[in-house]
Amino acid sequence: MRLSQYFLPTLKENPSEAQIVSHRLMLRAGMIRQSSAGIYNWLPLGLRVLRKIEQIVREEQDLAGCQEVLMPTIQPSELWQKSGRYDDYGKEMLRITDRHGRDMLYGPTNEEAITDVVKMECQSYKDMPKMLYHIQWKFRDEVRPRFGIMRGREFLMKDSYSFDIDYESSKAAYNKMFVAYLRTFNRLGVKAIPMRADTGPIGGDLSHEFLVLADTGESGVFVHKDVLDFDIPGDDVDYNEDLQPIVDKWTSLYAATDEKHEEGVEAELGDDLLAARGIEVGHIFHFGTKYSKPMGATVTDQNGTEIDLQMGSYGIGVSRLIGAIIEASHDDDGIIWPESVAPFTVGIINLKTGDETCDETCDRLYKELNAAGVETLIDDTAERAGGKFKNMDLIGIPWHVVIGPRGLKNGVAEVKNRKSGEKQEIAITDLVAHFS
Ligand code: ATP
Ligand code: MG
Ligand code: MG
Ligand code: MG
Repeated sequence: MRLSQYFLPTLKENPSEAQIVSHRLMLRAGMIRQSSAGIYNWLPLGLRVLRKIEQIVREEQDLAGCQEVLMPTIQPSELWQKSGRYDDYGKEMLRITDRHGRDMLYGPTNEEAITDVVKMECQSYKDMPKMLYHIQWKFRDEVRPRFGIMRGREFLMKDSYSFDIDYESSKAAYNKMFVAYLRTFNRLGVKAIPMRADTGPIGGDLSHEFLVLADTGESGVFVHKDVLDFDIPGDDVDYNEDLQPIVDKWTSLYAATDEKHEEGVEAELGDDLLAARGIEVGHIFHFGTKYSKPMGATVTDQNGTEIDLQMGSYGIGVSRLIGAIIEASHDDDGIIWPESVAPFTVGIINLKTGDETCDETCDRLYKELNAAGVETLIDDTAERAGGKFKNMDLIGIPWHVVIGPRGLKNGVAEVKNRKSGEKQEIAITDLVAHFS
């Protein structure tokens, strides 16, 4: 992308409406603009990052054996009346009436919708197990939308649902998602810690929230320090094997949000206990027959007996993750994208736009890098060098390639790493190979 043509409305000043750093930086970096409270326009740079996150989430879901579907944003109220949640959900649900007077709603989540699909299509135990997910916009009329996309009213969620014929296999599905979540958040460059969460009336121990530590997080968290150093399951993880040992390991030490925090833990763990704040980026939940029973989602077993399906649901806040990543990865100059989600990998800075050799070299490099599959942004504007550096830092591009007349005389460019600030000179002729 050429910056001179890019729709990237960056701001020099801090916008007064933003209270936390991720919101400020997303506005300043021209990623989003508010449409109305808690509802945002995604501009090109923001959308690129959103898509990157979405894709990593998708790849890890697919790897775990979950199949992608796409359900609508608008749902009929009947489904929610069947499950009993239509009245319970309260004001967070946006209710709509169509021209025929039918009650509809903008989905805040999809348990009812997916249960209905499976109920209609699956009749036998032979159709089980199934794990289905989609990545779709949700609407929740939050009392206090705030912190930009972190607590939006309209937000992008990945939600998966598992269907099994018994508790044991449902637990295996839960474990798959647990492991997939560890891997997903790790690939996104954040440390998300699974913590015991409330299971409500269903009981049991199968509910975990995944939280990223950040001072601006809305939840208080209490974690045994050693959990921060646990290993993430690698690429060799086999989802067909028993994953219980991995889940056991990760749940062996204390980790709880303020809602579940137990008294006396401080005294017991002493210095090993970290009290901090966290952002909920994911939540996994086994809820048995809570929806299948009232909605009649049954299959027949080997003996022809009808059984209620065992279910779980598993959410990731795809859009919220952008905020969480920035909270965890920025400095005074701007965003520091982990390479896996960066909107561009390389940013070329032309120090002397208008100088024939500089322009020519930058242009050739830009084309060659893109051709080699390295996503590259080139600052080909007539802005002063200082402004160009500031801008590249603000939008957080991981690698800056600086081309100027002096370096060109020696055939080199200066390459800066955004995260470490380290600079090195690299021969222009080696650059494409260096990045690809
Ligand atoms: P919170 O406690 O923050 O209100 P939740 O527990 O209500 O979240 P879930 O129903 O567990 O949310 O939804 C799954 C995921 O969707 C959450 O873990 C979070 O990452 C994301 N999410 C929920 N509400 C919002 C929101 N208003 N804006 C952005 N992301 C959200
Ligand atoms: Mg909520
Ligand atoms: Mg919550
Ligand atoms: Mg939750």
